Amino acid sequence: MKTTIKISAIAIALMSFTGCMQGQKSDKDVAKLDVMAEEPTTVLVGEVLSQKQQEALSPDDVIKSLADGNTRFINNNLTARNHSKQVKNSVSGQFPEAVILSCVDSRVPVEDVFDRGIGDIFVARVAGNFANEDILGSMEFACAVSGSKLVLVMGHNHCGAVRAAVDDVKLGNITPMLQKIKPAVAMVDYKGDRTSGNLEFVEMANHSNVKNTISNIRKNSPILKEMEYKGEIKIVGAVYNLETGKVDWLN
Ligand SMILES: [Zn+2]
Repeated sequence: MKTTIKISAIAIALMSFTGCMQGQKSDKDVAKLDVMAEEPTTVLVGEVLSQKQQEALSPDDVIKSLADGNTRFINNNLTARNHSKQVKNSVSGQFPEAVILSCVDSRVPVEDVFDRGIGDIFVARVAGNFANEDILGSMEFACAVSGSKLVLVMGHNHCGAVRAAVDDVKLGNITPMLQKIKPAVAMVDYKGDRTSGNLEFVEMANHSNVKNTISNIRKNSPILKEMEYKGEIKIVGAVYNLETGKVDWLN
């Protein structure tokens, strides 16, 4: 407390001295100085995706742009965003370019992974990134109602949910949840050790789970299947690498 008072006293003394030397600053000058002090050194992005911008995008544009965003993420070069401006600019509507289904894993921050901000992407998350009826409804809302151009199913390596499905873990509501992942594990053509101790098998199960989710989306959502058939959207898969931060696109 004493130090603060002392510094303030020195500051006031210096200000008075400067005022004496240069003449008092006008109100205009003071306002100008205030603006300069608040001006950030980096240009912050305050705009959000508009309907016009969304409509101009093709599914392939979105894939490329997400891949570019992932490169910026890996290079620690994320876009600086003015969140309060983006909040204001997105109130009247949203026109996200994609819907991404990810695992709940805390090490997969989806928006950051693709360098995306407010209004850019829909994100649905569930342990093991499978698509049940509610997730399908959310995806249909994203594409058929809100105009998104891409459905991306993104798994990740070392996935705990997939490992639990591999080991047939039984616990509370986790038991029925794992039932949605287990068919993908069973589909893996592998003759060796089929336990979570075998990383090779777990990663094969991971890939199988992403592919199985995609085929379930096509099978259980005639709306999305038709949109894909017409070329209005693409449904694609990827696996996020926890070691490198890189998204590996399947196919
Ligand atoms: Zn996971």
